[in-house]
Amino acid sequence: MSSPVWIREPLGILADNAAGGVVIRDGRIEELIPSGGHPAARDAAVFDASAHVVLPGLINTHHHFYQTLTRATPASLDQPLFGWLTALYPVWARLTPEALDAAATVALAELLMSGCTTTTDHHYVFPPGLDQAIDIEIAAAQKLGIRVTVTRGSMNLSQRDGGLPPDSVVQDEDTILADSERLIARYNQSGPDAMVQVALAPCSPFSVTTSLMRSSAELAARHGVRLHTHLAETADEDRFCQDMYGCRPLDYLEQCGWLHDNVWLAHGVHFDAAVMTRMARAGVAVTHCPCSNQILGSGHCPVCDLEQAGVHVGLGVDGSASNNASNLMQEVRAAFLLQRGRYGVERVSHLDALRWATTGSAACIGRPELGRIAAGAPADLALFRVDELRFSGAGDPLAALVLCGAHHADRVMVGGRWVVEDGAIPGLDLSGLIRRHTAASKAL
Ligand SMILES: [Zn+2]
Repeated sequence: MSSPVWIREPLGILADNAAGGVVIRDGRIEELIPSGGHPAARDAAVFDASAHVVLPGLINTHHHFYQTLTRATPASLDQPLFGWLTALYPVWARLTPEALDAAATVALAELLMSGCTTTTDHHYVFPPGLDQAIDIEIAAAQKLGIRVTVTRGSMNLSQRDGGLPPDSVVQDEDTILADSERLIARYNQSGPDAMVQVALAPCSPFSVTTSLMRSSAELAARHGVRLHTHLAETADEDRFCQDMYGCRPLDYLEQCGWLHDNVWLAHGVHFDAAVMTRMARAGVAVTHCPCSNQILGSGHCPVCDLEQAGVHVGLGVDGSASNNASNLMQEVRAAFLLQRGRYGVERVSHLDALRWATTGSAACIGRPELGRIAAGAPADLALFRVDELRFSGAGDPLAALVLCGAHHADRVMVGGRWVVEDGAIPGLDLSGLIRRHTAASKAL
C-alpha cells in the first residue's frame, strides 16, 4: 500500500461534497473531503491545490494520431470530407513506423497537456511495412503514462471495388481479423484500472465491405471488446449508403449486426428523431467532434436531441488533419459554443460541456468508472491554474475554464501518478519531439 496524498482545498472542483479536496492512494480516489474537513488517513502528504481547479481527467473518444503529420496540408484545405480524404489518402500511404511513433507521441503529449487522461485512437491506414501500427501506438502511450483504448481500424473496400480509398492503403479481411485477434490477446486488459484496452473499428461504410463489418462484430462479441466506426458524418455518406446498399447508414449498421450497446459511433451529424430513438433503445453511444465537423463543413451533431432521446454523447477531437489540433479542453469549449449556439442558454451550460468530456465519454468507451471524482474511482485528475491573463477577473472558477478558454493543464494525474507537472511532461524533450515530427511530416 502506498502512502496517501491529500489534494487539499482546491479553488474549485467538479465533484459534490469535495470542497476540501480528495485523498489519493494506490491509484484510486480513497476519500472525498467536505469543506473544512480532514482526511481519515492522518499520514496523508499534502498537495496544496489552492491555486487549482480540479476536473476528472478528460476522456477523448475519437482521434487519428497519425494525422498530426498532415495538419493544414495545402491540397486538403477548404475541402468537404470526400475531397479531403481523396487528397490525403496518397500522402498517408507513405506512412512509416518511425513517422507514426512521432505522430502518436505528439498527439498524446498534446492531449495530456490539455487535461486528457484517457484517449482512444482509430488507426485504419496500413500501408506495407506498417503492420505493427497499433503496437507502436500502445508503446508511445505506455511511455507517457496515459490510459488508452486503441481501436484496430481497417479498410478493405478500395476504389477497385467502388470504395473511396486507393488500393495501396487497404488490407484483406483475413489479415485484418488475424491482427485484430492478435492485438486483443496481447494487449487488452480488463477491470477498472486497465491502462490499455483494444476495440475493433472498421473505418466507415464507404471504405469497408459488409462482410468485414459483420465479421468484426462477431469477433468483438467473442472477445467482449467494443466496436467503433464513423457514421452519419456527411450528406455524401448518406447518398453513398443509398446507392451502394439501398438504405440509410443506421439501417446498414443494423444489417451488419452493429445495433447494440457495445458500439459507439463518431460524428452522428445526420440523424433524424426516429433514428435517435432506435439508437437509444439499442444503447449505441455517439462521439461529438465539434471542431472537425466545423472545419470540414459537415454539419452539427444534434447533441441535446440525442441526449433527450436517451443516447450517451461523449467528446472527441477527431484526427489532426481535420481538427488540426489535439486539445481536448479546447474541444470542450468548442462543443459548448456550438451546441449553445444551436440550442440556447436554457439547454446548454458549461457543466454540460464538461459532462460530455467526462461521464459522457466514459459511457462511449464502456468505462463508467472513469470521468468522475468519486471514492473508489481511478485517480485520473486534471488540475488547471486560473492565474493567467486570460482568466484575470473571473468569478466562478469552473465556468472560467470553459468560458475563458482554458487549454493547458498545470498538473495531470493518471492512476495516482503525476504525468504532467508544472505544465510539462517529465522526461519528454518537447523541442526534440517537434524536430523529429516536423522532419517526418516533411518526408511524407
Ligand atoms: Zn475520424
